[in-house]
Amino acid sequence: MSRYWSDTVRQLTPYVPGEQPKLPNLVKLNTNENPYGPSPHAIAAMQTELGDNLRLYPDPTGEKLKRAAARFFGLETHNVFVGNGSDEVLAHVFLALLKHDKPVLFPDITYSFYPVYCGLYRIDYRMLPLDEGFRLRPDDYRQANGGIIFPNPNAPTGILLGLDDVDRIAADNPESVVVVDEAYVDFGGDTIPTAATLIAHRPNLLVVQTLSKSRSLAGLRVGYALGQTDLIEALERVKDSFNSYPLDRLALSGAAAALDDRAHFETTRLAVMQTRERLSADLTALGFEVLPSAANFVFARHPQRDGAELAQALRSRSIIVRHFKLPRIDQFLRITIGTDAQCNALVAALKEVLE
Ligand SMILES: *Cc1c(COP(=O)(O)O)cnc(C)c1O
Repeated sequence: MSRYWSDTVRQLTPYVPGEQPKLPNLVKLNTNENPYGPSPHAIAAMQTELGDNLRLYPDPTGEKLKRAAARFFGLETHNVFVGNGSDEVLAHVFLALLKHDKPVLFPDITYSFYPVYCGLYRIDYRMLPLDEGFRLRPDDYRQANGGIIFPNPNAPTGILLGLDDVDRIAADNPESVVVVDEAYVDFGGDTIPTAATLIAHRPNLLVVQTLSKSRSLAGLRVGYALGQTDLIEALERVKDSFNSYPLDRLALSGAAAALDDRAHFETTRLAVMQTRERLSADLTALGFEVLPSAANFVFARHPQRDGAELAQALRSRSIIVRHFKLPRIDQFLRITIGTDAQCNALVAALKEVLE
């Protein structure tokens, strides 16, 4: 605290990102990064961009990236907004589309950045409890609100809400914007259960995605939103009142090439899903309760062992997982799906700890 701080800054409760330790030989399963590298085409595209061109500002509209996203989803470029990571996209969403007189609704267990944005923009919110199985109940969202947001699959549970339920929430709330944060949706099955397919008939639906997880580009910082033109225009208005060039030349080129490389995307997302099923079985065999995950992580607790202690025991064996000291979930570990070797190392360490 300092007397130089504005009132706004004094009142902030910032988000705490998972740590990025700089230790060698760490098995890092704490921030849901993809264990496989990004598309080689993306790397090549960025290398081409790396030169004298960097004198020049990047395209403020991000047209090339919008075209790639539009191609991928069968939409038009005016249905796409691009930003510096989906966190930035989400920040603009809160200010542009969710700040109204009534409270924003989201689950009690969810991405912990949502209340942070509400604090930053002074948006009233109401958290609706998930049921005992950590499932979202669509009927709860039939109440007065200034907007609705939830991740699908949810974070940090990994549980997927069916598209019919997503559609119903949008249908039940025609007066507000319903935002589906699909950071993990590409791990939701052979057919991707994205709500992008609903946009054409739901004018109040906005889908937010990121290249950080399924495209292995967390370090590049690229996210986007998909929706009908007026929703996208609202985001452009905020963006152009904040930073005209949120994406640099490397990010625009690399992200477009990554979206175009469907083969790499398919191979890596399927590999992650396979490892997830194997790890879930291994953890279950060790006595863990593992929530059914449609994401690139699993959320698991052991009935006899304290979550924080387990996380600490793993850490002392150079394996980092995420533990949240929060109501209802403080006995759980959130474990990112790594390579098969990393997951084997985790299972071996847990065996040792549990003995
Ligand atoms: C990782 C994550 C994001 C942020 O992704 P970036 O594009 O890296 O900012 C957003 N929402 C959820 C639920 C996430 O897990």
